[in-house]
Parts: sequence; C-alpha cells; structure tokens
Amino acid sequence: MSLDNRIKNLARLVVEFGANVKPGEDVVLMTPVENPEFARMIVEACYEAGARHVSVDWSDDALKRMRYQYEDQETLNEVPDYEVARQEYRLANKRSNRIVVISEDPDALAGLDEKKIAESIRERSKVMKPFRKYTMNDIVSWSLISIPTVKWAMKVFPGMIAGEAVNKLWEAILDTSRVTDDWEETRTNWKNHLIVLAKHADFLNANNFDKVHYTSSNGTNLVVELPKGHMWKAAISDNEKGDAFVPNMPTEEVFTSPLKTGVNGRLVATKPLVYNGTVINKFEFRFEDGKVVDFKAEEGEDTLREMLESDEGARYLGEIALVPFDSPINESGILFFNTLFDENASCHFALGKAYPTTVEGGDLLEDSELHTIGLNDSLIHEDFMVGAADLDIIGYKDGKPVQIFKNGNFAY
Ligand code: ZN
Ligand code: ZN
Repeated sequence: MSLDNRIKNLARLVVEFGANVKPGEDVVLMTPVENPEFARMIVEACYEAGARHVSVDWSDDALKRMRYQYEDQETLNEVPDYEVARQEYRLANKRSNRIVVISEDPDALAGLDEKKIAESIRERSKVMKPFRKYTMNDIVSWSLISIPTVKWAMKVFPGMIAGEAVNKLWEAILDTSRVTDDWEETRTNWKNHLIVLAKHADFLNANNFDKVHYTSSNGTNLVVELPKGHMWKAAISDNEKGDAFVPNMPTEEVFTSPLKTGVNGRLVATKPLVYNGTVINKFEFRFEDGKVVDFKAEEGEDTLREMLESDEGARYLGEIALVPFDSPINESGILFFNTLFDENASCHFALGKAYPTTVEGGDLLEDSELHTIGLNDSLIHEDFMVGAADLDIIGYKDGKPVQIFKNGNFAY
C-alpha cells in the first residue's frame, strides 16, 4: 500500500469524518511545524469541503522548551489580551471547527523545572477556561489526530535510524486508525467501527449501572459509583448544530463520568503517562470517597504530584472509559508514549474535569448544576491507562451483578 496515499487519506479523514467540516465554516488547525506538507493536505481538504477560512497555529517542541527554560515565571504566566481576543473571535464568534495534530516528543520538557511549567499552564488554563466549554460541551466540532515527528518516532522505536522509525510510526498510526490507500474502504472501515462502538454504549446504557467494580492481579481493586442520569458515549459526538463529529482518531473507547465522591480502592496504572513533556511510569493511586489520598510513581513522581496539585478537582476522577484488551492498538504491541494512542489501547480513567455531555442534557447545565449531579470540575483532564489482560469489571444495578469485562475484554 502506498504510504503517500494513506497519509492523504488520513488528512481527508480528519476533515470529513473527524471535524466534519461543512461549507461556509471556519477551521482552526493546530499542527507541528515539522511536517508542513501534512498541514497543507489538511488545509486543502478543508477548503475542498467548503471551508470559508482556515487558520493554522504551528507548534514546535524545541521552541516550547526554550520558553520554559529561559523565560521567568511572570512572563510565562502572562496571557496577552490579543490571545484571548483571538479565542473569542474563533470560538464564541465564528464557532470554528478545531483540528489538532498532536505530535509531541515525549521527553520534550524532561529535566526542566516542573513547578514552573505547572504554574504557567495553570495560570493559562484559568484565563482560557471560558473557552474550554466550546470543546468540552461539544459546541463546536473538534478532532485530534497524531503524526510522527523524528524524536517521537525514535522514542517509540529506539535503535532504528530516523527515517525508518518515522515510516514505521506512520504505518502504526495508519493501521490503528483504520486508514488504507483506498478512500472508500477507509470510509467503510470507519462506518463499521462506529457501529460496533455504539452497540457497546447501548448495552451499558440499557443496564444503567449504579456502580462498577474493577479487579486485576496487579492489585487494582476499585469501586466506582456512577451518577444518576449518566450516559455511556462512544466515538461520535454532535455539535450544537447537530452535525456528527469524531473527537479522537483512532478511537476505541466507550466512556462516561464517575460520581465524583463515589470512588474507593486501589488503582494501578498499566502504561506510562506523558504529562507536560515528562514520562510518569509505574504509578498507582488509592482513592477514598473519590479523592486520591495516596499515590506513588517509580518514575516522574514529582510531575505526578504537580499534576495532582493543579487544583481541588485534579485529585478526583472525571472519566471512566472501557477499551477491550484486544483492541488493534494494544495488539500492535507498540507503546506509543502518546495518550491519544495509549488510552485507546487500554481501559482508562481521567483525573480532572468530567465531560458535561456524559449526563442527560449536561451540555446545557451550569457548573453548579453539574457539581450537584456529582460531576468533577478541574483545569486538567488527564487520561491514564489501567487495562490489563486479566482485568474483570462487574457492573451492579440495585445490587444485581452483571459481568461487563472478563479477562480484559467485553464479557457479553
Ligand atoms: Zn478517554
Ligand atoms: Zn479523556
């Protein structure tokens, strides 16, 4: 299969299926400077789909690192008015679709002052909080994909020469994203996949569990209560106009929100998490009444502590997601060091903000109402992976057990 054609099809997929760009709409594309050709493919696909205007924000790991290294805290914390005005224009005013190409070197910020980085991200998130609802509440369409960069590819495939590693990572991304060199086939793959995911969500919603119990031999033993009116969601979301979009590509998960204060027990992570350019590995949490009361990590513990101290809600869960152990990403055997892929290889949770769209009518509720229902709020939302080959999950409705997962996969 021609790699070039497949790459073109990924660009088309994120525009037509991911963000579902419609005639007359604006698009904001965030993409790494390392691959301008791919950015141009996306921009062209947007215009071909009828976009009115596409603006591009370039990202660069090396420049980001320099800022954190050289600028003082006050400068880093500052968010200029024009940046706020730009978000106001793009989201509040133009309702721009958002396409984000994430391609971070997992070690981009390794060795820098974690406190300094965490504070500046926190301050920035506070200023930008009013704009988060446009994506968290699905007001606009948004979609996330990843493409290789040299440093990321060499982290995933150590020992290979750069060009080989990049090609191998491209193939892994395209395989797990169900993209072939035939556009019609790629479309059909996605249509069929979305039907399978929707069936799992329907099963879970029909059972309307009060709580779920996780156990596996690594020590995980966790009970998670679910809020009244919660809904399990699969890959597809609808924006405020009712247009369907796919927020993550690839996507293998079915997810909802936990009851903020209803999480108890021990939870052991099964894959590393890259947070702000630092790897956190071999970590676990103990929860009491929803709160992380104890944690440890063999690698990156300071970074994990900074993350948990972001704000009050950072110590509570905001997402519970089911992914079969036999998902194509897990079967690839590749550890991507990239949450978009690793979360879709494994059952996961997120610490931090819950998606309001996971409760009935939630996208129209105020923060205080979401709080009353039991949804967590925070400046962060960070997924981490807990899936294991022997993970069992049992759901309970009025005390009656139903096996949801047996040995890492859906049991029914
Ligand atoms: Zn998720
Ligand atoms: Zn998440």
